[in-house]
Amino acid sequence: MLLGQKEDAAVQNNPDTTLITPTAPIATATHGWRAKCLQRLVRLDLPVPRTVALSFDAVRRIGEDEMPDIDAIMAQFEPGALLCVRPSSEDPDWGGPKAVLNIGMNDAAYVELSDTIGAEAAATMYMRFVQSYAVHVARLDPDMFDHVHGDGQLGLSETLFAYEEEAGEPFPQDPAVQLSGVLRSMARAWQGTTARLLRQAKGAPADAGLGLVVQQMVPGYGPGECGSGVLQLVNSTTGLPQITGRYLSQSQGRDALGAGAGALYLEKDPRGPSLEELAPEAFEMLKDHARLMRRRLREEMQVEFVIQNGEVFILDGVRVARSPRAALRIVVRLVEDGIIPPQEALMRIDPHSLSELLHRQVDPEAARDVIGSGIAASPGAATGRIVFTASDAQASAARGEPCILVRRETSPEDVRGMHAAVGVLTERGGMTSHAAVIGRGLGLPCIVGASSMTFDMRGRKLIAADGRVFAAGDVITIDGSAGEVLAGEPPMLEAALDDAFQTFMGWADAERDIGIRANADTPEDARTARRFDAQGIGLCRTEHMFFEPGRLTVMREMIFAETSRGREAVLARLLPMQRADFVELFCIMEGLPVCIRLFDPPLHEFLPTTRTGQREMAEALDLPVSDVVRRVEAMQEYNPMLGLRGVRLGVTVPEIYDMQARAIFEAALEAGRDSAPVVPEIMIPLVSAKREVELVQARIDAVAAAVRAETGKNFEYRLGVMVETPRAALRAGEIAPHTAFLSFGTNDLTQMTYGLSRDDAGRFMSTYVQQGVFAEDPFHVLDTEGVGELLRLGVERGRSANPDVILSICGEHGGNPESISFCRSVGFDYVSCSPFRVPVARLAAAQLAIAHKLGEEGAG
Ligand code: PEP
Ligand code: MG
Repeated sequence: MLLGQKEDAAVQNNPDTTLITPTAPIATATHGWRAKCLQRLVRLDLPVPRTVALSFDAVRRIGEDEMPDIDAIMAQFEPGALLCVRPSSEDPDWGGPKAVLNIGMNDAAYVELSDTIGAEAAATMYMRFVQSYAVHVARLDPDMFDHVHGDGQLGLSETLFAYEEEAGEPFPQDPAVQLSGVLRSMARAWQGTTARLLRQAKGAPADAGLGLVVQQMVPGYGPGECGSGVLQLVNSTTGLPQITGRYLSQSQGRDALGAGAGALYLEKDPRGPSLEELAPEAFEMLKDHARLMRRRLREEMQVEFVIQNGEVFILDGVRVARSPRAALRIVVRLVEDGIIPPQEALMRIDPHSLSELLHRQVDPEAARDVIGSGIAASPGAATGRIVFTASDAQASAARGEPCILVRRETSPEDVRGMHAAVGVLTERGGMTSHAAVIGRGLGLPCIVGASSMTFDMRGRKLIAADGRVFAAGDVITIDGSAGEVLAGEPPMLEAALDDAFQTFMGWADAERDIGIRANADTPEDARTARRFDAQGIGLCRTEHMFFEPGRLTVMREMIFAETSRGREAVLARLLPMQRADFVELFCIMEGLPVCIRLFDPPLHEFLPTTRTGQREMAEALDLPVSDVVRRVEAMQEYNPMLGLRGVRLGVTVPEIYDMQARAIFEAALEAGRDSAPVVPEIMIPLVSAKREVELVQARIDAVAAAVRAETGKNFEYRLGVMVETPRAALRAGEIAPHTAFLSFGTNDLTQMTYGLSRDDAGRFMSTYVQQGVFAEDPFHVLDTEGVGELLRLGVERGRSANPDVILSICGEHGGNPESISFCRSVGFDYVSCSPFRVPVARLAAAQLAIAHKLGEEGAG
């Protein structure tokens, strides 16, 4: 009766303790995933030992000492059969108590088994059961068996003696008592506070139930080929087809995995003996079973099996554990093999997990020599030689030597060094510090706040917490995903932008119904945006272009010009540089839309703040230092983020926007000369009143007319408004008729809606989130209630005044899956986010569209 399915009436009629047959009333929601999975295996006619499933209700009652009919359960199995009990919660990730094997082992069974499988093996099985019963049921100290050194009969006697000594009574001999004890202890373990907190952290509801399965043991010991193992058809790290697992003769449970060199490979392997050579028929059968499970369970499964005298038994199947890149390859192959539809593949991948695929990472199997840790500020991993200054980083890059830039913290002067480095490590800073923001923008692995290490900048040494010293030139590795600094160069996995990734993202694009663009300021950003198939640039912040060396001084001269004419003269020198910037962007984007935002920050951000800088500026402008200092001071504002910036500069210092508009138009003509015409999009920042738009629009139209007249060429452009002040959102109805598009800047809009400084909120944000004032940092996850209400109003009013207006968001929230859900629901045409978040946004948008369709089908 090891495999048979003949049911005892008492069990058959009781869904709380039911024999697993093809038709038994078993569901994941009442009996857990393992019971359901075993039922599927039984339906596939796989050789699964007889199993009885206990429902969540039954187990809950057991926890309250209301036992089921133990005799009826035991009557399902051969008289004298040994049993095992394993947990079956609703979701395998929620865990559960450890399995207990060999229930029913007692003195009599030991004698009987010694005849069939040998005294040594029988003793091992008995010892194993006593030890696990002692720890999990009798709750004795696990150390009590430390002195048991013998095996076989001697070890068994010592074990039983130790049990009796510690428990104050002999080891229970009655199998029904043993089974009751095991069931009760597992039911109670599930209800313990630690277990509850652990599973809640993994998303389980507070009242999640536990089911249990009681299965007849196949010993894995005995004459002929006997043993146990696990097998899967894919590699858990890469997701590529590869038979992996281990087998150990004369063993039980998952012993083979812990047996090291003693265990056999499954397939023939140059490294050692294999099951394929030892028991070829069993191996073939196992592979067939695993393939059948994959096809019919529609999932890559790890098979737990036992071979008993050459015969194969399947004890269990669990979803193969997988890295994010393996997860993606696995679902793509399931689709390609016709097992699941693409929509299901898309729904199975967590969009957040994609970001790991976009970067190189330390091979999860590699040994890690951790020398320090900090905040994982920008994902990916990189190995290089330590440099301590930006100029050393540039020199290293010039020599073709990858380097890691190590700084106390970074500032704008370090940006060129960051470009030259392959990774960045700083002593100070948090998620929004300079190094973190720039690192993420560049896709550069970065760790900040690594204060466990000593940064000896003068001595050019980095000292690990354990005292090891790393000097300039030494090789280290930054794991920006884990926030760990490693010595040397561990093996890496390359970014997984392979065929599987491209295929998968293609399916996502076919499903989604909201556009995805990228925020890209530099040619490098734009190339990344193309690589990730963004549908255009949704925000190009032009001010960054003025920080380039050679331009900053010109920019400062412009700021210092006293008259409009003087400003125009200096701006004429910046014009060709800006035009070249835009030509490059248009060429890289090859006809995809490019939305260029006119100059936004307060001008004084460009002025020197140090004495030395001010002296240099005085030299360049041929002015006394005192003049420079006076002008710099005069330009200071109490609250610059609410001061003279954005469109307010466009109105009061219009020559800057004139120059930028001309550069955009001339660049569009140049880039479109040999290809389809470029239709640039120009965006006005920080608008709060219709009149601002009218004024800027009139000037830009005049520039366009001038360029058309000068070149004799016609071109089109689209003018749009950034909605990032609450007033612009409220008055979108009167702004929209003037514009082709409205792009909601949720960074500033969040700042102004809350009255919360983007630059200073970090100081108290964690306290606010911890104390539940904010559920999340509203600069990371869109506040759909307050800021969301303004967005909703802006969308409604804008669209009803101008039905053709294109609506989008371009704040940091554009790449956040939860925020995209909101944007889609209020009717935005597209979201724009940093280039490395584009794939995340594409998948999140596809999942929303699929869920929406499923909801409609469900409702219809
Ligand atoms: C915004 O405010 O949301 C925005 C995109 O602009 P910036 O972050 O440059 O102020
Ligand atoms: Mg803004």
